[in-house]
Amino acid sequence: MSTRLLLATRNAGKLEELRRIVAAAGLGDVEILGLSDVEEFDEAPETGATFEENAVAKARDAAVATGLPAIADDSGLAVDALNGMPGVLSARWAGRHGDDEANLRLLLGQLQDVPAERRGAGFVSAAAFVVPDAAVPGGSGVGGSEVVVRGEWRGTIIDEPRGTNGFGYDPIFVPEGGTRTSAELEPAEKDADSHRGRALRALLPHLNRFATA
Ligand code: IMP
Repeated sequence: MSTRLLLATRNAGKLEELRRIVAAAGLGDVEILGLSDVEEFDEAPETGATFEENAVAKARDAAVATGLPAIADDSGLAVDALNGMPGVLSARWAGRHGDDEANLRLLLGQLQDVPAERRGAGFVSAAAFVVPDAAVPGGSGVGGSEVVVRGEWRGTIIDEPRGTNGFGYDPIFVPEGGTRTSAELEPAEKDADSHRGRALRALLPHLNRFATA
C-alpha cells in the first residue's frame, strides 16, 4: 500500500510547487493529497510571530484532524527597506488574505522612492512535517514527530511587474545573480533555487525515513 502524505495548503500556487518538488524527489510509493482530497476541518488563523510557528501549527492541525502525516509551508517576503516586512503578513499585506495583485501594488508604492541599491529582499519558507502518532508504522503510544526547517532566497525588488509564472510577489522579485524575475523563470528553474525548494529539500531525509519505514 502506498504511503499517503498531506500537503496542507489552500494556496493553489504553493500546492503546485509543493507537489512538484515532492514528486521530483522520487520518494517511492507515496500518494500526495491536498486539502481538497480530505474531509474539511477547522483551520485556525495564522497568528504566529514567526514562519516556523505558523508552519508547525498548520501541519499539526492537519495531521491531528486527518490522522495523516502532513507537510505545511509558511512563507513570505522580507524586504530590507521595510525592516523585514511584510514577512509573516505577506499574504494579507493589503488587508485581504490572498489578494496577490493588491499586495504587490501596495509594496511597490511603499518602495517608490527607495533606490535600486537598497531594494534587497528575501523570500523565506519554513516547512514543517508532522507525523501524528496514529500514522507511525507498526506502533503507537509513544507520540508522533515534528520537524521544521527553513529555506531562503535572496534577490531585489524591481519597480514594474514582469512575467506570468509563479504567484504572489514573483513578478517583482529578481533573484540574486540573475536578470529575470521569478515569474519569468521556468517552474523547474524556480524550484532549483527557491526558498520553498530549499526548505523542502531539507525536509526530504525526514520524509524519506517515514516513507520507507
Ligand atoms: P502563507 O504562507 O500562506 O501565509 O502566504 C505566503 C504569501 O507569501 C503568499 O501569499 C505570497 O504573497 C508570498 N509568497 C510566498 N512564497 C512566494 C513565492 O514563491 N513567490 C511569490 N510570493 C510568495
